[in-house]
Amino acid sequence: MEIKITKVEKRKPIPEDDMALGFGKVFTDHMFLMEYEDGAWKNPRIEPYHQLRLDPAAMGLHYGQEVFEGLKGYRGAGGGIYLFRPDRNIERMNRSNRRLMMPEIPPDLHLDAIKTLVLLERDWIPKTEGCALYIRPTMIATDPFLGVRPSNTYVFYIIVGPVAAYYPEGFNPVSIYTTDKYVRAVRGGVGDAKTAGNYAASLAAQIDAIKAGYTQVLWLDAIEQKYIEEVGTMNIMFKIAGETITSPLTGSILPGITRDSVITLGRDLGYEVSEAPVDVNEMLKDVQSGKISEVFGCGTAAVIAPVGKFGYLDEEYLINDYQVGPVAEHLYQELTDLQYGRIEDRFNWIHTIEAA
Ligand SMILES: *Cc1c(COP(=O)(O)O)cnc(C)c1O
Repeated sequence: MEIKITKVEKRKPIPEDDMALGFGKVFTDHMFLMEYEDGAWKNPRIEPYHQLRLDPAAMGLHYGQEVFEGLKGYRGAGGGIYLFRPDRNIERMNRSNRRLMMPEIPPDLHLDAIKTLVLLERDWIPKTEGCALYIRPTMIATDPFLGVRPSNTYVFYIIVGPVAAYYPEGFNPVSIYTTDKYVRAVRGGVGDAKTAGNYAASLAAQIDAIKAGYTQVLWLDAIEQKYIEEVGTMNIMFKIAGETITSPLTGSILPGITRDSVITLGRDLGYEVSEAPVDVNEMLKDVQSGKISEVFGCGTAAVIAPVGKFGYLDEEYLINDYQVGPVAEHLYQELTDLQYGRIEDRFNWIHTIEAA
């Protein structure tokens, strides 16, 4: 399907200080959108960025039929424009869509939409090291109906915006709070879909974490509250003795693309990486004894986020003296070198939109 483009008459000024951008606050001049009706996607187009018109009874607003994705466009040192494994985001969105009884998006059309929009907004892609253009595909159910059933109509849109490097003051550890009061997702639920309700359900715990002086929440499994699942918007890895371990994808964990990349890249770099259940009590004991020398989160926004401290049941557990460990540092360097096209792409992960 051809994407019709309507450009703005006058472009907004592009922020000059990339490091002051923050995350998710600035959006570009245009957006992609199309509607689903009568069993088909219609009218794919790029238009000036604008507010959506939704019926106040739109089902997505009442019953949570909403799915989203998040990936980045990178500008390499030589001026090339790259995406990192966009096929995985496109595939994951369709998986989320199936779980929420929403229509799939033809992968070629989705990729074409991302590429066309990113190219049109190329001047917005930050040139500063570590900064990128964040890409947010979103789908919402639009039938005006107050009843619980899958909607017959949807809007799919993509907005993009420049984001600062996640670590404005350098690659510093974060502190993470573990809650035994709330759970995020249970097997058979929607924890492995990128859907709005998961994040709404996490807010109470996040506020508790912040009140306790931590920045993010570590989720335990919902049944025994014993096995580690993931962090708010990141998967998590532990360096236990000589091995790097992450929780297996049990159905209640979001299958991160960074997680998958870290497993493959880590093994390629000679680290032993495995998927195995991690018991929170053993893990904290191993942190205290020093058997766990590193913990880090992985997700698109931060890439790699070293964890310096856990909080659990009023106790504090310091990891590696709140210092970044060598594995986290190495993986961060290698992954970002790949994403910015600084090293050869031996995994075929980089999708070049425009060559350097
Ligand atoms: C998006 C997300 C992740 C990370 O996925 P990436 O594909 O690596 O960005 C992890 N956990 C949750 C809950 C998420 O929403």
